[in-house]
Amino acid sequence: MSDERWRKKFLGNRKLSPETLMMGYGYDPFLSERSLKPPVFPTSTFVFRTAQDGKDFFELAYGLRQKRPNEEPGLIYSRINNPDLQILEDRLAIWDAAEANLTFASGMAAVSTCLWAYARPGSVIVHSGPVYGGTDFLLKRILPQFGVAPIEFPAEGGRAAIEQAIDRARELGPVAALYVETPANPTNGVVDLRHARLLADSLAADGRRPVVIVDNTMLGPLFQTPLAEGADLVVTSLTKYIGGHSDLIAGGCSGAAAALDPIRGMRTILGTMCDPHTGWLLMRSLETLKLRMTAAAEGARKVADFLKDHPAVAAVWYLGFLPKDHPDRPVFERQCKGPGSTFSFEVKGGEPEAFAVLDRLEVIKLAVSLGGTETLASHPASMTHSDIPPEERMRLGITPALIRLSVGIEDPDDLIADLDQALRR
Ligand code: PLP
Repeated sequence: MSDERWRKKFLGNRKLSPETLMMGYGYDPFLSERSLKPPVFPTSTFVFRTAQDGKDFFELAYGLRQKRPNEEPGLIYSRINNPDLQILEDRLAIWDAAEANLTFASGMAAVSTCLWAYARPGSVIVHSGPVYGGTDFLLKRILPQFGVAPIEFPAEGGRAAIEQAIDRARELGPVAALYVETPANPTNGVVDLRHARLLADSLAADGRRPVVIVDNTMLGPLFQTPLAEGADLVVTSLTKYIGGHSDLIAGGCSGAAAALDPIRGMRTILGTMCDPHTGWLLMRSLETLKLRMTAAAEGARKVADFLKDHPAVAAVWYLGFLPKDHPDRPVFERQCKGPGSTFSFEVKGGEPEAFAVLDRLEVIKLAVSLGGTETLASHPASMTHSDIPPEERMRLGITPALIRLSVGIEDPDDLIADLDQALRR
């Protein structure tokens, strides 16, 4: 962008809030016919004014030389860069309190491109469990085919569990990454990120240490900023809260520019980038992110309160209900700004009872995914986490009686009435 006005994060001494910056940051209307909103740039390639421009842009994009003073990277080809994605990435970096961001075709494209960039044959990835089913498959079934070994620790296991996993990993080979999903999907186990970072630091050798990657999909940047807790990279399925309307698939990764460099290169070659139209939709969604997530979190509290006292419900795994004496409680209070709006509950009984409740819901839709404006219910054991062997699922707490709810922004009393009739009949 040519004009610094569109890149101002301060008004005088006042630091502007992310929700304010989402309305215009990084976009110069005078470069686009004075259009208030950024247009969609559905183009595969960009015209160079001169051959020298083309040479300069490629040199910068491929890291063949340092940036000259005031030099901006030029647009080349939409697998490498595109105006919609550049503006979007600048805005996502603001939410994640990061130096930079990269967007991807899906959350899994973000997760896998990060891991391809950092893992090497013979290396180990220490990861929390449970993680999203797709990530679990990547870590346990795909990466081992390329000589990368996963070592899992239970998110609920506290400091001891992660320390034991690190000790086991050390025996196997160099640890390339510490991959943490917190709160865990669908069990809401909490991992202490500051502790994870200290452990990564303790593995430093020859000036290198394992990269700490955090999947922040469940709480999103409104309720958790992992980079501020010591993570190097934060990955997010933008499909969920950021997109927020269940009408797109995308992913993001934020961090320091240097930590993103190998991922940027890998994205260019694998072609896992986001497309301009999805980028444009995401910018529109970012304008209402705070409103949506705040409303959904308020609704979720009401729904969780209702479920807690229901006679047909055995347990509610809502972060706001973590007992005062639970070891995760201080970590949650320090690390998270709220419990969010996705949580699970167990009905009394097993799969037949859970299925009966799901089949009776009338307002709440039966679908996987989370973070949309509408409330969704799903059955993790037979859906998102069905890839995981049954005994491992049980060990991770994904029981047949477990239902996951992603509460949307409907009137929470309507949701409660729907759950009430489904649980009562
Ligand atoms: N991470 C978490 C926690 C998820 O729940 C999901 C999807 O459900 C993903 C990553 C993958 O995201 P996507 O479906 O956008 O590829």
